[in-house]
Amino acid sequence: MNGISSYEWDDWKWQLANSLKGINGLKTLLNLDTDIDTDRCDAIDGLKEVIKRYPFKVSPYYASLCRLYGLNFKNPIFKQIVPSLNEISYPPHPLSSKDPFREGELSPVPSLIHRYSDRALLLATAQCASYCRHCNRKRHWIEPSVPTLLNRRYREMAMSYLAKNKAIREVILSGGDPFMLSTESIKRILSMIRAIRHIEVIRIGTRAPVTMPMRVTKGLVAMLKKFRPVWINTHFNHPLEITREATIAIDRLLCSGLPVSNQAVLLKGVNNSYEVLKGLFTGLQAIGVRPYYLFHCDPVMGADHFRTTIKEGIDIMDRLWGKIGGLCMPFYVFDLPDAEGKAILSQNHIISRENGYIYLKGMSGNVVKWEEKGHKQATKK
Ligand SMILES: *Cc1c(COP(=O)(O)O)cnc(C)c1O
Ligand code: SF4
Repeated sequence: MNGISSYEWDDWKWQLANSLKGINGLKTLLNLDTDIDTDRCDAIDGLKEVIKRYPFKVSPYYASLCRLYGLNFKNPIFKQIVPSLNEISYPPHPLSSKDPFREGELSPVPSLIHRYSDRALLLATAQCASYCRHCNRKRHWIEPSVPTLLNRRYREMAMSYLAKNKAIREVILSGGDPFMLSTESIKRILSMIRAIRHIEVIRIGTRAPVTMPMRVTKGLVAMLKKFRPVWINTHFNHPLEITREATIAIDRLLCSGLPVSNQAVLLKGVNNSYEVLKGLFTGLQAIGVRPYYLFHCDPVMGADHFRTTIKEGIDIMDRLWGKIGGLCMPFYVFDLPDAEGKAILSQNHIISRENGYIYLKGMSGNVVKWEEKGHKQATKK
């Protein structure tokens, strides 16, 4: 960008203050400042309706990455941040809803979601560096007051809930993006969590390394380091997002003893191919990030057009297995509607189980017959 010093560019507060937002921000990104192209301006009118429901926002960093690969929906970065008419006009899946996981109901106190007995999730903030069009919490973007830990009373209620529930051993800071808070605010939350003796592990879910890597400052990691074990879970969806800047951010986290793993989402037109996912998973491993989950696209209103079939996802994962190392392979999972939790989607290598035999599919397609019973008898003798 013209007239911006690298000092400003590398300052995450400058990035936040200069985010492209609303219809004007969208026009700037699309180079539509002068309104010459009537076809595209018509589309802009439609997009005004979309962003009334699901706002538009992108950091200058992620916008510049987007510009490198063309201003159209074939560009995987563009597709993740530029609103589409499909968000309001695509026929929703019958099970799609604003809140398919009933997070609202699983919230015993505001800003805390408790679905699994040993893990609790906290909503640190509703802010993000950029709004991803496929986001499963996009319902929050227009709610006037999402309950988050920014509210002092909610923060105290959440902490006393955690203190009372001795079965909770892991706390997940989520949002929004917790890294949008100031380092001081994050520190305050982490200190409160660490004061609860039975909490063993803190996990932070953030997309900042992808959409605003300059947020990962030396000051931030020096603070996080004091609260270890802290696991960072980030959200790369495409190998083009693994930039020099992102790599520096990841390296800072790793060098401070903060393990980094990745949750990607399988998105039609972004990463639903063997080549792209292979590049993503191996590229992540190469910068020290462990691919953890590949989510099947959630049945969330406004994101249905991103969904592939489960069969397509399983076929790709099946082809990858054996071609790339096990450390590059995430679990392909589907967060089930009706708060049923996550299901692992995989081509079962077990073909059948009969009379003490298990039939397994090998790499070349041959079936291997494994006798379980015989093995037990042999060890008894
Ligand atoms: C996914 C999820 C978790 C974390 O589950 P893991 O399998 O440990 O990653 C925790 N709480 C809620 C509400 C979730 O949706
Ligand atoms: S960063 Fe995460 S929470 Fe924020 S819009 Fe993207 S997917 Fe949603």
